[in-house]
Amino acid sequence: PASLSFHDVVFRYPGDGPVVHHGISFEIPAAGMTAFVGPSGAGKSTVFSLIERFYEPQSGTVLLDGRDVHELDLGELRAAIGYVEQDAPVLAGTIRDNLCIGMPYVEEDELRRVVDQARLGELVARLPHGLDTEVGHRGTKLSGGERQRVAVARALLRRPRLLLLDEVTSQLDARNENALREVITGITAETTVVVVAHRLSTVSMADRIVVMDGGRIRAVGTHEELLSED
Ligand code: ADP
Ligand code: ADP
Repeated sequence: PASLSFHDVVFRYPGDGPVVHHGISFEIPAAGMTAFVGPSGAGKSTVFSLIERFYEPQSGTVLLDGRDVHELDLGELRAAIGYVEQDAPVLAGTIRDNLCIGMPYVEEDELRRVVDQARLGELVARLPHGLDTEVGHRGTKLSGGERQRVAVARALLRRPRLLLLDEVTSQLDARNENALREVITGITAETTVVVVAHRLSTVSMADRIVVMDGGRIRAVGTHEELLSED
């Protein structure tokens, strides 16, 4: 798993927009799960964009395993990270095609083995025609919740050292949310998981919570610590 830290990061999007991050710092050790919470517009999703190097901060540094992400090879950086954004794109191909995007050709039984290894059985098995190559259900016909599950499974199959999930449970029913929680719990020894969370059920399973508001870090702690503060 990878550690992650921000040091005095100041960021505004190109153009005339306001400052989004006013010098934020935080440290996330390798392994475990961290949840970012805070109102819409607080700057949570932008944290992920800076880790992925979609943008460069005006000042400050973003470190992955102690190394400045801007000094890493971009391919290496992106390969280390699984990133699932809100409304992650799903392509017109079958579910199997969608899971395998960017992978070398994978045989049917090999894909099933990898899915089992990653404990994605519950999430994937109940997708319409899951991994069937012949009668594959088209990605574009999936419901919102099904798309979220495909996108999460796609990221997990690559065994990232850091997994960034941006509100990916918003369209999941209770059963699928539980299945995803079990998957996440099962990987936190080998993958550092960071989520932007709205639901209390997601927040309460995190080892660490980072509260953001107005582009600043307001608090960091466990669920219990934050509850006892106010
Ligand atoms: P949320 O608060 O749920 O993260 P937002 O409404 O802030 O969602 O953003 C939704 C999408 O619109 C995101 O992809 C974000 O990058 C984009 N976005 C938000 N604000 C702007 C903006 N001022 N200019 C361009 N894109 C924006
Ligand atoms: P959150 O995830 O906490 O809702 P965001 O990181 O999405 O917050 O957005 C923080 C601020 O940056 C908001 O004011 C939003 O409108 C703005 N923003 C987000 N994406 C873009 C973008 N692509 N271009 C310009 N402004 C953006």
